[in-house]
Amino acid sequence: MQHDQEITVITPTAKLATDTHGGRAKCLQRLVRLDLPVPKTVALSFDEVHGIAAGDMPDMAAMLAPFGEDALLCVRPSSEDPDWGGPGAVLNIGMNDARFVDLCETLGRDAASSIYLRFVQAYAIHVARLDPDMFDHILPDSADALSEALRAYEDETEEEFPQDPAVQLAEVLRSMARAWEGTTARLLRQAKGAPADAGLGLVVQEMAHGLGLGECGSGVIQLVNSKTGEAQITGRYMCQSQGRDALLNRSASMFLEEDDRGPSLQAVLPEPFEQLLEHTRLMRERLREEMQAEFTIENGRVHILDGVRVARSARAAVRIAVSLAEDGIIPREEALTRIDPRAINELLHRQVDPAAPRDTLATGIAASPGAATGRIVFTADEAQASAARGEACVLVRRETNPEDIRGMHAAAAVLTERGGMTSHAAVIARGIGLPCVVGASDIKFHIRKKMLVAPDGRELHAGDTVTIDGSNGEVLWGEPPMLEAAQDDAFRSLMAWADEVRDIGVRANADTPADAQTAKNFAAEGIGLCRTEHMFFDADRLTVMREMIFADTSQDRAAALDRLLPMQRADFSELFRIMQGKPVCIRLFDPPLHEFLPSDRAGHRELAEALDLPLSDVTRRVEALGEYNPMLGMRGVRLGITVPEIYDMQARAIFEATIEASQDGDAVVPEIMIPLVSAKREVELVKTRIDAVAAAVRNEQGQEFDYRLGVMVETPRAALKAGEIAPHASFLSFGTNDLTQMTYGLSRDDAGRFMSAYVQQGVFPEDPFHELDTEGVGELLQIGAERGRSARSDLVLSICGEHGGSPESIAFSRAAGFNYVSCSPFRVPVARLAAAQFAV
Ligand code: PEP
Ligand code: MG
Repeated sequence: MQHDQEITVITPTAKLATDTHGGRAKCLQRLVRLDLPVPKTVALSFDEVHGIAAGDMPDMAAMLAPFGEDALLCVRPSSEDPDWGGPGAVLNIGMNDARFVDLCETLGRDAASSIYLRFVQAYAIHVARLDPDMFDHILPDSADALSEALRAYEDETEEEFPQDPAVQLAEVLRSMARAWEGTTARLLRQAKGAPADAGLGLVVQEMAHGLGLGECGSGVIQLVNSKTGEAQITGRYMCQSQGRDALLNRSASMFLEEDDRGPSLQAVLPEPFEQLLEHTRLMRERLREEMQAEFTIENGRVHILDGVRVARSARAAVRIAVSLAEDGIIPREEALTRIDPRAINELLHRQVDPAAPRDTLATGIAASPGAATGRIVFTADEAQASAARGEACVLVRRETNPEDIRGMHAAAAVLTERGGMTSHAAVIARGIGLPCVVGASDIKFHIRKKMLVAPDGRELHAGDTVTIDGSNGEVLWGEPPMLEAAQDDAFRSLMAWADEVRDIGVRANADTPADAQTAKNFAAEGIGLCRTEHMFFDADRLTVMREMIFADTSQDRAAALDRLLPMQRADFSELFRIMQGKPVCIRLFDPPLHEFLPSDRAGHRELAEALDLPLSDVTRRVEALGEYNPMLGMRGVRLGITVPEIYDMQARAIFEATIEASQDGDAVVPEIMIPLVSAKREVELVKTRIDAVAAAVRNEQGQEFDYRLGVMVETPRAALKAGEIAPHASFLSFGTNDLTQMTYGLSRDDAGRFMSAYVQQGVFPEDPFHELDTEGVGELLQIGAERGRSARSDLVLSICGEHGGSPESIAFSRAAGFNYVSCSPFRVPVARLAAAQFAV
């Protein structure tokens, strides 16, 4: 069926839009409006192309009319988003025996033959769908290459090569339209985020010949380095070439820059080179984007065939956005929105060079971003020994527990068999910026034999070198090339602009002075969660801690706690000193006590020796502390109520450190947070004791100080009862790790085993420990926030679970009127940028 719809020639005023004709057509119109030398182009809309695929062909005579009699044409795809791809371009449409004769006159025989040969091959492969191998025997430079190709075509199709340009064009359009609608193409683009009904536009453009007499060729040019974003004129040019030749042919004869392969374009054609630069600069300025110009030079004349957004690394994206803003081309707010906050991670950590080949052994959960290489060790002690020798190591464990922390600090990366996004290994690794992959259950872990077996059967032994890519969850063989972290001036400018506009606070979860320093370097506005239990795992403290746990009498316990007191005081003083008056929120002791005790017989024996107790005594006591379900057992405030001396000691340490720190600078107002609360009475009881400790310290030292007491909302009941709890608390901080665990009834330490099956089958849209479940857990947050605020209007609200730094939870927290989010120090910049994007 023929149609007489209007043919849309791309002119400055033609009605074209990205969502009707695709990005390429729209961009070409912008180039036309800039008066750039763009060859004549016709745009076909999504609807027209869809019609073509269904057999509704436009009038070919009308389609060809805008082009000159002798023009050769090319057809290129124009999808809404260039990343969705599309069928390959077909060039030189219109080439036939008659034009061949003409072109021999105007361009020379070699160029004419080459153009015809290229077209026959492209047509055979893309339109007639013949096997590309059928041309393998033809040498393109030989005198009879063209006639051989035509013969091969005719033998294979039993038809003459079509000579009518209208037929050629119609067939090319039909084949491209149908290719887009094929199942494979659809699945591929859907995987890149395209909707199921994404349309394809096509552009039909007059060819500028890159082949022929005089200086002819084609290439691309851009004004920045794609890896770094630094200003640098770069690109490729190849003389006597068309289409993608210059990009595909590494041994091209002439390059944009001078190198050992030949003189530069600038040296050979200074004037066209200057024009290209001018055109590309104009594109940057007026299209408000760093563009790559695709060009052809035809007998010394420049044609701009297309402009595409320069491909860029995350690091380059930041520099490009910042320099566009600094040059006044885009406002700062827009620069902020141009960067994907998650891509910032790539700038904060070393990365495996994306261009390098990867030998992937296995994949697990990407628990903490960045990449590091090291020799495999299987215990925390070996990790420390390795660090002492100055040798980078990867700590491999079934899962980690608090005893492994020092080993983790010593390691370059961590790999575990079990666990999910909020498992111990994941939380600690993110906190200290250590690349980490957890839940790599495809690998067989033979920890005792000190051996791993990859899914493909390859064995890895202690001492073998592997690379952990915590950004995408891969375990790689050997040592691939890396890209360094890049917190350069452009990054700092972007972050400063983000801070100017965002309207929600960003604090960091920091347990140690090193964490606090990192948090401060990343401009966190304070510490939103200091998990104090991590302070008790150093060898000197662990023994005292164990003495405290084993104390028979309140007096013995007090004696052990007296020894812990100065250590805790020093910890807090150091944190206050580093944070220089910025708020520090300290969570009172949270984990079950048994985590501090050895779990095997050798450990029990050692402990019996250290405490001078019979082994049987130690074993019995350890067993007695064991719980069936420790995460729901004697931990958090439950410990604070049943063994109140621990919180008393911590409160005293905090207050004494407060007085000490306030002497040298601004008055410190510590924030103290009670974990795992589920009832108002728990808060009342703890508050009474802490107030008493505060009064005692004020009295003893004759010094005044203020403090704030708050509650961690980690149980569904605490969220529901926030209205009763809030009058006793000046802040509520939602611990979304435990709250997610308890809302779903899903173990945060074990969910990794089946989470991927759950996500794959659509039970959960995402791992709820990774992305805040705004519907379910979110409803509890909202209820908690509303009930809390209506009981106490000045109640400070925050999130301090691992979700804190993710853009989704920031959006949620802003909407719910929270004051701040708190996240791992390394995620602070991501959170600052995401928060700014929601505010602009
Ligand atoms: C939480 O539960 O969200 C939390 C921050 O505490 P932790 O991860 O230490 O249990
Ligand atoms: Mg918790």
